[in-house]
Amino acid sequence: MQLLGRQFVLGQTLPEAMKQAQRARDGASGALTFSYDMLGEGARTAADAERYLRSYESALHLLAERARREGPLERSAEDAQDDPYRSERERDGISIKLSALHPRYEDAQRARVLDELVPRVWGLCQIAARARINLTIDAEEVDRLELSLDVFEALLVRIAREHPEWTGFGLALQAYQTRALELVQHVAELARRHRVRLMCRLVKGAYWDAEVKRAQELGLPHYPVYTHKHHTDVSYLACARALLEASDVIYPQFATHNAGTIAAIQQLAARVISPGKRPGGGMVGATYEFQRLHGMGEGVYREVLKNPLVRCRVYAPVGAHRDLLAYLVRRLLENGANSSFVHQLADDRVGLAELLNSPLSLSPQTALPLPSDLYGPARRNSRGLDLTVQAQRAPLLDAHAQCVVPTIAETELSALPKIFTRAVAAAPAWRDTPVAERAAILRSAADALENDTARLCALLVKEAFKTWGDAVAEVREAVDFLRYYAGEAERLMAPLALPVRPDGVHGSGADGHGGARFGDARQGLLGVTGERNTLRLTARGVWVCISPWNFPLAIFTGQVAAALVTGNTVLAKPAEQTPAIAREAVRVLHAAGVPTDALQFCHGPGETVGAALVAWPGVAGVVFTGSTAVAKHIQRALAAKDGPIVPLIAETGGINAMLVDSTALPEQVADAVVQSAFRSAGQRCSALRLLCVHEAIADSVIEMVAGAARELVVGDPGQLSTDLGPVIDCEAFDSIQRHLKRLEAQARDLLPPETSGLAKTSTSVPAPSAAEELTPSVSRPANLLAPRLFEVKSIADVTQEIFGPVLQVVRWSGDPEAVIDQINALGYGLTLGLQTRIDGRAEALAARAHVGNVYVNRNIIGAVVGLQPFGGEGWSGTGPKAGGPFYLQRFCAEQTVTVNTTAAGGNVALLAG
Ligand code: FAD
Ligand code: NAD
Repeated sequence: MQLLGRQFVLGQTLPEAMKQAQRARDGASGALTFSYDMLGEGARTAADAERYLRSYESALHLLAERARREGPLERSAEDAQDDPYRSERERDGISIKLSALHPRYEDAQRARVLDELVPRVWGLCQIAARARINLTIDAEEVDRLELSLDVFEALLVRIAREHPEWTGFGLALQAYQTRALELVQHVAELARRHRVRLMCRLVKGAYWDAEVKRAQELGLPHYPVYTHKHHTDVSYLACARALLEASDVIYPQFATHNAGTIAAIQQLAARVISPGKRPGGGMVGATYEFQRLHGMGEGVYREVLKNPLVRCRVYAPVGAHRDLLAYLVRRLLENGANSSFVHQLADDRVGLAELLNSPLSLSPQTALPLPSDLYGPARRNSRGLDLTVQAQRAPLLDAHAQCVVPTIAETELSALPKIFTRAVAAAPAWRDTPVAERAAILRSAADALENDTARLCALLVKEAFKTWGDAVAEVREAVDFLRYYAGEAERLMAPLALPVRPDGVHGSGADGHGGARFGDARQGLLGVTGERNTLRLTARGVWVCISPWNFPLAIFTGQVAAALVTGNTVLAKPAEQTPAIAREAVRVLHAAGVPTDALQFCHGPGETVGAALVAWPGVAGVVFTGSTAVAKHIQRALAAKDGPIVPLIAETGGINAMLVDSTALPEQVADAVVQSAFRSAGQRCSALRLLCVHEAIADSVIEMVAGAARELVVGDPGQLSTDLGPVIDCEAFDSIQRHLKRLEAQARDLLPPETSGLAKTSTSVPAPSAAEELTPSVSRPANLLAPRLFEVKSIADVTQEIFGPVLQVVRWSGDPEAVIDQINALGYGLTLGLQTRIDGRAEALAARAHVGNVYVNRNIIGAVVGLQPFGGEGWSGTGPKAGGPFYLQRFCAEQTVTVNTTAAGGNVALLAG
């Protein structure tokens, strides 16, 4: 780390870095300046943000102090007019990350960010402006671009008013964004409108992999970045030209280590800004500069700087080596890629011609599949939304304004006999409907749900108090279930010729003669000749599907789709709290072609309607998701009945733990913990309940988790800024309160409510704009619970699932396997998180854990259909896993048909062979 640190970090403190910079300047042949960057991860807590602010401030004060000592660089007012960038260009400056200055620098918190972040950055700008030095806002993730532009413009307005002479303010622009050129034009337009001169750094972009992953995870229609490297290179040149052409208001700073790009820029600049033809008119001095990262590109710039007209600024990280990791990983990713110039330069097999190939001359290779095509032609990925894009969230907000949750009539107990009769009568026809037809109906229902996303999301927000992000994810999950089970049913319900060889090839061919390839005795007989064996799955009959309120669309739809596509008829009972959204799913399935008697909706209390459905003698199977207690109740009710033994699929709760060892990255842990424990107000079966953190890092991790939890906004789920909506009802609220009382008495309270997010209720936060102001979804603040954190003494103290935003923490030391044993001993087995940088340990601990879903170095919620089949063991459920390849079998009966193909007279195949 020290070696790497010395390579990539200019100094551990700014004075040390400034000394190094001076040494480099003295030894350089050309003009060298620096832009200092204070190392560190983005702020997770208010305290982090405060610390970064102080560090930027003191760095700026040091630079300003030096500028003051040097005195003004311009000799006269005319000088300043002729060369307005002189000071800012020739002095060292600073680069800042907005994510370091606010713990919630994200679009959903726009109002708060503008309120709180702008004054902080303005404070920094004032120091830089007075000293006439360059202050650049680094470019970060694409979903923060629009927010960063709002912050940028708010600052421009003040600069125009208070420091119009300052030309050192600027931001980095990423050429890999598909909207890069428009962005350059927009920024130039802003500068002209506000009459401010800027310094803009053009980069290709450092988060390419993360942007691609995000777009895939969210199922976005397009990638926000180019997916061919040479397209980014072309975009870079187009943006470079646009920046050079805007030199009346922009001093371009070209950050690259690519020699081809550097050469192209030099040629371009010579053409666009030839002496005497400066668009800005009359300016002297260099009209642009190059930039490189400290520790990189030294060789190429040594050559380039031999030209006395060329300037270069070095982006120079400053900080302790322990803060280097995140920065280093970015650089390694960026330069380790095959497509990277630096990587190719170091590769002897890449010749000069290939290295310097013009991006314009390369033929396009295959691009990445679009997020919708991730799963290949067989299954379309569900379409998602990017809520940070105004145009994409607008339909949701419109739908919300119009949404009224309908009252759904309960099913009378007296109506049940008729319902049963209809379900039985409908069974044969539905069972005999070809599986391809049933699958097509599911796919068509999936399309219908997808096309109605906005309205369904609004209903989820109003009826189930989902936040917008959760609502979109839930509609997508329902769509995925429908498409996935459609494909699975077609795969599984095709008759299977037996035996199946170890390599997966089936034995008896459909021709009944043992298969042309190996039924033949001389090729090694795997079955008896003269016999045809076929296995097929068939429907069982009438299934009862009982679902919970916490995924009232996705789980409801998943259960029903699985039962239907396998040819069963269904009686579907949603949770009492959320019948309206479930009713919508039924309506869509009926409209897509499921006969009304094959799927009947039975809404009512679990104790009466639910119990009666389970108790009915003709039930062929029950699929249940909900609490362990009710699952046991249903199990007993089924066992008490006479008649056939009825299969029960039960997916229940869990005491889900996360084990954090001392190698884990605290920021990554804090993100994972906060999302896992508090998203959806902790009302996910997969939610984190028990954090087991190694004592060596426990204090810092707990502090960061508590600090990040304090920044969460609790309130009206209809507001985009809300992180935690209310818990589902008064009963849930009271039950959690009882647990809290117990914990307050017995455990160490690490996040008392008065210090946590309830103070930041979203109703007190202004909406982003008048158009986005929403009518409250919940008229009362009732049932709102702030995130809570308690330290308990031992894992064994945690005995119950608390279905809300309550996390218990335990410190551990010694053998991590012993911790896993204690977690196993709790008896539940749904989800487990492991946070460690030791791969072997993660593997060993995962293998030792008795849980259904293990997540390593990430959050533990949000299982994706087909990728992360979901379900637990022990007290957490029977399996099989929903959204997995073994789920549908459980809904089916199996039938083997054996045909003696010699019965008609003899074994022709054997004789012929
Ligand atoms: P090249 O090898 O020519 O380009 C590599 C780049 O191409 C990758 O980084 C990526 O952007 C792009 N790329 C790679 N593969 C693909 C693909 N398949 N499809 C499309 N594009 C692809 N980055 C930021 O995001 N924000 C900043 O504020 C920032 N500041 C910087 C400051 C300086 C001084 C420098 C030198 C770089 C900065 N960077 C910043 C990093 C920069 O974005 C580039 O990642 C880095 O400079 C590599 O680009 P290159 O031209 O040197 O190398
Ligand atoms: P719950 O058990 O109270 O209710 C679930 C469903 O069962 C509801 O539809 C309810 O009406 C019905 N029900 C209640 N009593 C019944 C009875 N006697 N006979 C038949 N049906 C009856 O659970 P909930 O409060 O709706 O949901 C929260 C629980 O669900 C949590 O424990 C959570 O962990 C669990 N859950 C598990 C998963 C999973 O996949 N493992 C997913 C979501 C929720």
